[in-house]
Amino acid sequence: MNILRHGDYRHGARYDAEVVVVGTGAGGAVVGAELAEAGFDVILVEEGGYHPTSSFSPYLAESQPRLYRDNGGTVIMGNPPIPYAEGRCVGGSTVINGGMAWRPIPEVLDEWEHLLGPEMGAKGLDPYFSRVEERIHAKTQMPASIGDDNRIMAQGAKKLGWKYVENYRAQDACVGANSCILGCPTGAKQSTLVSYMPRAFEHGARCFTELRVDELVIEGGRCVGVKAWAVNPRTRRDEQRVTIRARAVVLACGAVHTPNILLQYRAARRSGQLGKNFLCHPNAKVVARFPYEVKGWQGVSQGGQIREFRHDGIVLAENFVPPAIMAAQIHGHGDEAWDVMKHYNHMVATGVLVEDTRAGHVKRVFGRPSARYDITKLDHERFLRGIRYLAELHFAMGADVVYLPFPNLQKITSPDQLPLIEKTQTSPSTLELFTVHLMGTCRMGDDDRASVVDMKGEVWDLPGCYVADASLFPTAVGTNPQVTIMALATKVAHRMVETLGRG
Ligand SMILES: Cc1cc2nc3c(=O)[nH]c(=O)nc-3n(C[C@H](O)[C@H](O)[C@H](O)COP(=O)(O)OP(=O)(O)OC[C@H]3O[C@@H](n4cnc5c(N)ncnc54)[C@H](O)[C@@H]3O)c2cc1C
Repeated sequence: MNILRHGDYRHGARYDAEVVVVGTGAGGAVVGAELAEAGFDVILVEEGGYHPTSSFSPYLAESQPRLYRDNGGTVIMGNPPIPYAEGRCVGGSTVINGGMAWRPIPEVLDEWEHLLGPEMGAKGLDPYFSRVEERIHAKTQMPASIGDDNRIMAQGAKKLGWKYVENYRAQDACVGANSCILGCPTGAKQSTLVSYMPRAFEHGARCFTELRVDELVIEGGRCVGVKAWAVNPRTRRDEQRVTIRARAVVLACGAVHTPNILLQYRAARRSGQLGKNFLCHPNAKVVARFPYEVKGWQGVSQGGQIREFRHDGIVLAENFVPPAIMAAQIHGHGDEAWDVMKHYNHMVATGVLVEDTRAGHVKRVFGRPSARYDITKLDHERFLRGIRYLAELHFAMGADVVYLPFPNLQKITSPDQLPLIEKTQTSPSTLELFTVHLMGTCRMGDDDRASVVDMKGEVWDLPGCYVADASLFPTAVGTNPQVTIMALATKVAHRMVETLGRG
């Protein structure tokens, strides 16, 4: 493996490649591996470090600073503010994600086909989805890896007559260690760290880690490289300045950082769309306490989803988390907090995901990205409904207490209290949300006034600069996005091979 770290760079050094890919997450690793396989000399640049499976720790205090940007604590401004998490390591957010591997729902692909033609419909994208699914081993879980928390959700759904589907996940022999979000300790979860990056290395790609790209090199109106700072992982200070020159640059820094780099350039801003159409698919957590032991940590964190309310933009999911995260999600102080956490083995953690009905935007402020997003009245109503559905399900399955994501209604202890949700929740400002699905700020399209990149993934008016990450989405994807990002990145890579010729 050809991996450079922060101490390996010389100040002022110049490197050359045929293609430089910035970011190694769902988009970057895929495009890098595809191009390397096609014979291109590829350098993948990654701001975070290289942390192999053997280094993953089950303790949040150790894993979070290594694998998460800003220790997992960045916030989207708006009403309510929405904290979000992103990976910053080789493999990007796929290293810390839940591994769900869903294609978009049919309605979304129909809309994409209607907007952008057959190549973006279910049939047009099918070969890319199939290629990705094969490479990340997308399939349902082995029953032995499913825990009792998932069974409670499945049985609750059955009792209430709701449609429950088993999750498709990117995993090969997952044992249900329930540590997806701290890095899979067995390497079963097929993050790009263990799927696409080894493929890229096998075909000669180099990976420059602990290197933050902050500028593009543009000559004669064409993008011919990037400039970057080697970041000391201990102090987070910028140290050596390096330049990487290439025939083409692919930005795959995620839907917040890709537009932040591009916003510096008038050519990229010309459509007026750059940074707009920011979608984030927020979610709210509902935790239940049962009178018996569930041991939610025994088994995969997310075994299935309730899709009964999908047509209303609401998906309900199980999502058990390590104790430190659970403690952060529950209200209360001192003895009260201790009393809650003493029942960790009795808990089931679930969430409501609501499809975006309005987009926000990402701006560049003093060189850093700043995201803004306000939920709509409809989104708020959908959250309240989704939270109520989950509370109903937990009570139907015998829960003693249901903890709610509202500071002014922290818990309820019987179904009779369900009407309190509508009664007390009159404003989105008392709704606690979180998100991990950032999408849409450089949307792909065939009209240079309505999109940021063309159908090849190349930035309008900035030849040589491509985008291949979650920012490409023209609309919200309606489900967990990684497979769609990977499919679009594959498509961009294949179009680049057609345009640039073989490497
Ligand atoms: C906790 C969590 C759980 C999730 N669960 C699921 C799930 O179960 N299923 C699913 O489909 N999706 C899930 N997601 C979302 C999914 O992982 C992301 O949508 C996807 O990884 C985004 O791909 P991306 O390529 O756009 O960005 P990322 O995967 O985030 O990769 C971007 C990479 O670019 C690097 N980078 C950024 N800026 C720079 C720069 N200036 N210079 C150099 N490098 C840079 C970052 O460090 C990062 O490694 C989850 C995400 C999280 C955080």
